[in-house]
Amino acid sequence: MGLEKLHPFDSGKWGKVINFLKEANLVTDDSIVRAQEAREDDLLVVHTRQYLNRLKKHILESFEEWSFVVATITEIPPVLFLPNFLVQRKVLRPLRIQTGGTIMAGKLAIERGWAINIGGGFHHCSGDRGGGFCAYADITLTIKFLFERMEGVSRATIIDLDAHQGNGHERDFMDDKRVYIMDVYNRYIYPGDGFAKRAISRKVELEWGTEDAEYLQKVKAHVEAALDEVKSDIIIYNAGTDILYGDPLGGLAISPQGIIERDEIVFRAAWKHQIPILMVTSGGYMKRTARIIADSILNLYHVGLIDTDLAIEEAGST
Ligand SMILES: [Zn+2]
Repeated sequence: MGLEKLHPFDSGKWGKVINFLKEANLVTDDSIVRAQEAREDDLLVVHTRQYLNRLKKHILESFEEWSFVVATITEIPPVLFLPNFLVQRKVLRPLRIQTGGTIMAGKLAIERGWAINIGGGFHHCSGDRGGGFCAYADITLTIKFLFERMEGVSRATIIDLDAHQGNGHERDFMDDKRVYIMDVYNRYIYPGDGFAKRAISRKVELEWGTEDAEYLQKVKAHVEAALDEVKSDIIIYNAGTDILYGDPLGGLAISPQGIIERDEIVFRAAWKHQIPILMVTSGGYMKRTARIIADSILNLYHVGLIDTDLAIEEAGST
């Protein structure tokens, strides 16, 4: 659509990751689980009908007003100038497919010990409001689905390592003791949501330009401590790559190798504690991002942290 030229945004990131993984023979079309679009009934598990109607009301009202709502939520100003049916098809439907993917990956993670959704991680969206390129609250939805539909899942830990504070899931689980939230983010950037911060059990606020050594030391210490603190049935790992050096939104200075090591630290801790882990890719839309995500997943495979033999049966219903 040319949209990506108007916004600091690699909208092809997700497909590129899949292609890199195919080139490396890690996945094939047969072994990839294709995401299904989240339907209205699914979305209503978390979202209010009023919120969903705001996204849909283009049918009844002017294109311009509705597009304005979507542009505000997605932070893609050019959306303002697109006719509405294109916004629906090119922006919201892909987000619903990614949302469905996170839910499916949650179920797979419980069954197999791990799953990665190449997409999702819309951590600024809560049940009644969107923001920061997040229109659907996929993390909240997935946790609620698992609590309601998967036997033995009654506690969840969110490890949010995107450069931004995950205020969406924080608002959704503000008073829910079943969900433990650890959040590591640049303290000076969007969204700076003081109210949502009250839901964070383990808060690690970073300074501008934080580099690998300090970052990885903090991530390792706090992930270990978080998993020791409560025994959860599932980890939702929001693996945003906007911590990368030079990212125009994140303001941190982590190297590609640092991102690979970070993901390894989190998966290794999950494995050590025998807790199923679901990873979503969240923010980070630089040209180099897709290659880094693929390299990190390949690394997880090569060090033996993701594999069909990764058995969690021994831990029973951890
Ligand atoms: Zn972010």
